[in-house]
Amino acid sequence: MVLTHNLGFPRIGKKRELKFALESYWRGESSLESLKQQAAALRKIHLLEQNKLDFTPVGDFSFYDQVLDMSFTLGNLPKRSRNFTGEELDNYFRVARGQTSKSCSSCEQIHAGEMTKWFDTNYHYIVPEFDENTEFKLNATRILEQIEEARALGVNTKPVIIGPVTYLWLGKSKDQSHRLNLLERLLPVYSQLLLDIKQTGVEWIQIDEPILVTELDAQWQTALEKSYHTLKHVNINILLATYFGTLQENLQLLCNLPVAGVHIDAINAKDEVIKVIDWLPTHKILSLGIINGRNIWKTDLNALLDWLEPLARLLKKRLWLAPSCSLLHVPVDLESEIQLDSDIKNWLAFALQKLEELEIVKTALNEGRESVVTELAKNAQAIQSRKNSTRVHNPKIKENLAKITSQLGKRTSQYPVRAEIQRNLFKLPEFPTTTIGSFPQTKAIRATRTQFKNGVIDFEQYQHIMQQEILHCVRVQEELDLDVLVHGEAERNDMVEYFGEQLDGYAFSQYGWVQSYGSRCVKPPILFGDISRPKAMTVEWIQYAQSLTSKPMKGMLTGPVTILNWSFVRDDQPRSTSCYQLALAIREEVLDLESAGVNIIQIDEAALREGLPLRQSQWNQYLDWAIECFRITANGVKDQTQIHTHMCYSEFNDIIEAIANMDADVITIETSRSDMELLDAFEDFNYPNEIGPGVYDIHSPNIPSSDSIVALMKKASEKIDAKKLWVNPDCGLKTRQWDDVIPALTNMVAAAKTLRGAV
Ligand code: GLN
Ligand code: ZN
Repeated sequence: MVLTHNLGFPRIGKKRELKFALESYWRGESSLESLKQQAAALRKIHLLEQNKLDFTPVGDFSFYDQVLDMSFTLGNLPKRSRNFTGEELDNYFRVARGQTSKSCSSCEQIHAGEMTKWFDTNYHYIVPEFDENTEFKLNATRILEQIEEARALGVNTKPVIIGPVTYLWLGKSKDQSHRLNLLERLLPVYSQLLLDIKQTGVEWIQIDEPILVTELDAQWQTALEKSYHTLKHVNINILLATYFGTLQENLQLLCNLPVAGVHIDAINAKDEVIKVIDWLPTHKILSLGIINGRNIWKTDLNALLDWLEPLARLLKKRLWLAPSCSLLHVPVDLESEIQLDSDIKNWLAFALQKLEELEIVKTALNEGRESVVTELAKNAQAIQSRKNSTRVHNPKIKENLAKITSQLGKRTSQYPVRAEIQRNLFKLPEFPTTTIGSFPQTKAIRATRTQFKNGVIDFEQYQHIMQQEILHCVRVQEELDLDVLVHGEAERNDMVEYFGEQLDGYAFSQYGWVQSYGSRCVKPPILFGDISRPKAMTVEWIQYAQSLTSKPMKGMLTGPVTILNWSFVRDDQPRSTSCYQLALAIREEVLDLESAGVNIIQIDEAALREGLPLRQSQWNQYLDWAIECFRITANGVKDQTQIHTHMCYSEFNDIIEAIANMDADVITIETSRSDMELLDAFEDFNYPNEIGPGVYDIHSPNIPSSDSIVALMKKASEKIDAKKLWVNPDCGLKTRQWDDVIPALTNMVAAAKTLRGAV
């Protein structure tokens, strides 16, 4: 008998119930009791919905983040949050977001924990903080209560926790001490946690050590061995789970750890399955993650069974089946989608549908395919329809792709030649000032967009109101005396969705939300087919904006790599192929803008870094096509057209050459918070083109003084030739209020003027 289990379930609820419950509590509009009740109700629903599994996960629910949960379980609270006498959950929210409910008057604010990306997903966790004195103290209440809750419902559970080595790896040491030094202190707490869990009578515990798919040096490998040799003494069945990638040099290490079973990602590491079977001692369970937990496509169940049946015969009772990773990274229920085109809907599977697929596979293996004939036939029909659909496959686009040559990504002249032409054309002062694109998205703007979407106003009315917004934005910028203006992006809800909506090959869900962090969810558009651009997407808006002013107006686009990285993408072709298609489509827009007389075009690649593979050894492979896609998009323009790009981060050291290779005339980046230290990359590497290091931290309501901006720019000019420097904010101003944007930009422009006289 093959068994099934799940590694984790989305916690936000089908209609983002958890988000709304949290935010209402934080606003002080509901009680902690009511928040707890709503969370318990959601957990109950999730347990019952997964009830067909042989083991249902518990401990995967979280009010904010599973890593922060682990920090509280292990008693590793940042110093600033200790000695809090109120409710534990209030303290938890303080660490997560700096504050808890507005109604808690005694709950002092503290600075929020740092947040960073969970491996290569778009989920963000709260980074554990360590120093050499860190002590751990077990608090198992949360997980024990959840086990009890599941038991009361008659659900067979398998608690899930993050393993000790991954936990240390995810954290940061606040002093110079090495966090592995804490392992000795950490392991007894884990042993006690396992013991407490064992006493509840559960059979299995799932311990996640996803760092096994990354490049580990010897100390981390040894730490894994040491940990599991210690934990085995508790005598509870441990299922050691890895996901998101291949094991490579860690494969034998994993197989030899003294645990009762291992889970591997049989989507990403499919080619390693046979090797794992070879190496895994025959008393151990092998759990295969066969349903993709990171995408939204139906699995080809018949093909999967062709591959799986021989393995099942070989492994017999030792085989378990699961999704490849926690289902946290996919939306909850496809059935909620009532507006989605029925063809496309038929190709998709969200979390609940993925669990149904798992059941079908299990039944087929245990009772023969004939016992699920109807289900398999239905699945085959859906797979076939997607494979043959003319909405997915467009021969014309495939032809265009085949015609791509490296010539397409090359500017006519080298940068110095173009720069000279552009200087004569634009006659910009030294330290030219600009912004990153968006201006405050006021309530009125959002209301107008919604009215248009819901058909309350027609396009003409909508256009008129938006043009008024653009006019306002342009006048403000002229008054501020900025040098290169923008139209303000009032018509854009989101920098990816806006383009997705206008490209063929994209679909949109109504409830396809995925947690990004805390109560923040994103609804990635679904890239399902070959991409084409039926008509120009931005030209009219920019042209209108340009008509209002004699200053240069920057056309704003989102780049292909960012559109790709923030979408659910196809699994029937490499990511690079989808990216090249996007590149050709956005290139057409660039050329249309140029023909319409827009001389400066910014192509945002906010998410370029996010696509980097987990293993550094694979970075170049990604960067090669990602950078080439940007070049194809941007570099078809004439010498006099100035290309800008923008990136939302500042860690450049490791990819600076690739970024230089994009050959944008100007690049704007985020640096203000790091006090320009992050420009170190530019010290060792002579970045050839122009750079605008952000001098205004737009994530904060604080208004930078003119002096502080001058100081930052002077610092930058120590590392970069002052002639190459632009003055601009860190990122778009969309989330800010006009009241802080105006004084901040006033100071920015004043600073640039001071610099012109001084440096
Ligand atoms: N042009 C976009 C804006 O200003 C860029 C946003 C981003 O980098 N995330 O909003
Ligand atoms: Zn940005």
